[in-house]
Amino acid sequence: MTRIDDLPVRDELRGKSPYGAPQLDVPVRLNTNENPYPLPEPLVERIAERVREAARDLNRYPDRDAVELRTRLAEYLTRTGGHRVGLENVWAANGSNEVIQQLLQTFGGPGRTAIGFEPSYSMHALIARGTGTGWIPGPRNEDFTIDLAAARRAIAEHRPDVVFVTTPNNPTGNAVPPETVLALYEAAQAAKPSMVIVDEAYVEFSHGDSLLPLIEGRPHLVVSRTMSKAFGAAGLRLGYLAAHPAVVDAVQLVRLPYHLSAVTQATALAALEHTDTLLKYVEQLKSERDRLVAELRATGYEVIESDANFVQFGRFADAHEAWRKILDRGVLVRDNGVPGWLRVSTGTPQENDAFLDAVRELECFVG
Ligand code: PMP
Repeated sequence: MTRIDDLPVRDELRGKSPYGAPQLDVPVRLNTNENPYPLPEPLVERIAERVREAARDLNRYPDRDAVELRTRLAEYLTRTGGHRVGLENVWAANGSNEVIQQLLQTFGGPGRTAIGFEPSYSMHALIARGTGTGWIPGPRNEDFTIDLAAARRAIAEHRPDVVFVTTPNNPTGNAVPPETVLALYEAAQAAKPSMVIVDEAYVEFSHGDSLLPLIEGRPHLVVSRTMSKAFGAAGLRLGYLAAHPAVVDAVQLVRLPYHLSAVTQATALAALEHTDTLLKYVEQLKSERDRLVAELRATGYEVIESDANFVQFGRFADAHEAWRKILDRGVLVRDNGVPGWLRVSTGTPQENDAFLDAVRELECFVG
């Protein structure tokens, strides 16, 4: 039988595993930070309407520059992000994963490197590998905050071309203070200058504000966002970035022509028309998230303060064994390979109750 390694795959891909959050069929799935609420019926209707219209033109390629969609995204950011942005500041792609891939194709690549502070979103390293960008795992403190002194040293030593800052961070949930992001930006500029990608996939769930205003006067700073979480539209695959217009021009060099299908653009536009309704779910999820934090702590767990729609909790002598025991009780959480810790996404109140019941019965945490 021919296996992957029998094919002439690139050396850096040999023996590696793909991204693989388990997609198991269990009653309560709280493992991939999705929004648990299905889209409201009026929005489903609106999507159907918009897609029907788009379908009439599917013989043609879609708007390559997604002008209407980027204009609406810019309006959303201006309204919620504390900073005025226009079409020229915004770029969109199939999920923020593709946004990040385009950024690494543009600013990383063979002979270049990117740094991220681990544990963080594992796809940053995987997309680096896929684009031939060298990956530098940067340090964090014991409590999962960024160790600024060590981060500065790593940036000065490795002079990376791209610096990732995920805030709120995944899987740990903590937000990075704006002063830390600014200090990292300064360090990155002094060392190279490099691009700093602020991954704000979860920012709508944060107690604090978006770092969007920091793009002003900082052409090397990119804020990456997604409709997968706050908009409850992970299946849509729509991510976007805000940055200096030169960054938007630069990613045009690598994007595939017509990368955003007409169906995707129509669906995203419909969802943006329902922003206010969707953001109400975010408020419910934030209070459920806070309840998870409080109840886990009351049960004796250690919990990292969360600004996201998920919570990292522990500690376990054996996190994988705990993951399995929770699964045996019909609840799927995430083992991100952070020793001693697991991550749970905020679900509906009923799902969260099922999760809390399951973890209250566990006896393998180190209390
Ligand atoms: N960034 C972070 C920090 C994430 O956790 C995720 C999804 N889990 C993404 C980006 C990618 O999301 P999407 O491609 O669905 O926009």
